[in-house]
Amino acid sequence: MTENTLHDVAIVGGGAAGLSAAVTLARSLRNVVVIDAGEPRNAPAEGVHNLLGREGIAPFELVALGRAEAEGYGARMLSDSVAEVRRDGENFTLTLAGGAKLRARRILLATGLYDELPDVPGVAELWGTHVLHCPYCHGWEVKGQSIGVLGTTPMAVHQVLLFRQLSEHVTLFTHTMPELSDDDWDTLAALNVEVVSGRVAELRAKDGEIDAVVLDDGHEFDIDALTVAPRFVARSDIYEQLGGTLSENPMGSFIETDFAGKTSVDGVWAAGNVRDLGAAVAASAAQGSMTGGALNGDLIFEDATAAVAARKAA
Ligand SMILES: Cc1cc2nc3c(=O)[nH]c(=O)nc-3n(C[C@H](O)[C@H](O)[C@H](O)COP(=O)(O)OP(=O)(O)OC[C@H]3O[C@@H](n4cnc5c(N)ncnc54)[C@H](O)[C@@H]3O)c2cc1C
Repeated sequence: MTENTLHDVAIVGGGAAGLSAAVTLARSLRNVVVIDAGEPRNAPAEGVHNLLGREGIAPFELVALGRAEAEGYGARMLSDSVAEVRRDGENFTLTLAGGAKLRARRILLATGLYDELPDVPGVAELWGTHVLHCPYCHGWEVKGQSIGVLGTTPMAVHQVLLFRQLSEHVTLFTHTMPELSDDDWDTLAALNVEVVSGRVAELRAKDGEIDAVVLDDGHEFDIDALTVAPRFVARSDIYEQLGGTLSENPMGSFIETDFAGKTSVDGVWAAGNVRDLGAAVAASAAQGSMTGGALNGDLIFEDATAAVAARKAA
């Protein structure tokens, strides 16, 4: 059954972006509901780093604090997943996986992205603990260690340089990356980066740690951490249901918006990783807050315009 309440904004996704937007909107006395499936992208990590004021906090603790802050201002939280969104006149009807139906004037997509990992056995198993991608999220934690870089894209040399800043022991496994240029070879040699040619067959784990990188030809290499370049894919089912299409850049696919978070689908806004593949937690939260403010402004303008029309008609 569809609820009678017409929410000002339904926020799909309650990670850093969605919860920050909820705080901003609820503090503006907006009737806001957050529906969250409870799987933030950084869930496998032991802590959130590079986050001013909450350095190292556990991912789910951050989410719990954000939820409590948003609820403190009157936001409604639902632990569920949005299965379908339909346009309903000027508003939207959302159907949740649990069967409930909600109504809202605006939709804010804060659904994040998923990391499409290289198809190498063992990589998914150690993702977020010993298999890494971001030097700013977990680089300091592996400083000085023996770090491997799995080459799958032309950006692998760039990733080598980022992690070489953190350790003198960096090995590039060329795996499936394009051939190195003469300039690349010069740079890698000057920085004492070992280059291992050949395909990686397996990242072998032992007791939750990396045991060895094993090549197709059977050679084994001892490393502490492996960095990879996932393809970032926006969680966009709902956007596509409403007629939106994804944009592509070299990192992956995302929902394009204007600077405030407005998409090309009327009434649908986006914040965080779903629109910005490179945004870490602080940037996602900042986008949520800015987009929450912009949405409030959009609703204020709509209501003021309607009030003027009603007054003139009276
Ligand atoms: C392993 C790893 C470690 C990381 N470590 C750090 C770090 O240390 N520091 C840092 O700044 N960044 C880190 N990041 C990046 C960080 O995870 C993202 O920047 C951040 O999570 C983006 O926030 P978000 O709100 O956009 O998305 P998310 O945090 O992913 O939240 C999206 C939420 O939407 C929900 N959702 C999706 N679809 C639906 C639906 N249909 N209905 C309802 N809910 C839905 C999901 O379940 C999820 O809870 C890390 C990333 C990874 C992969």
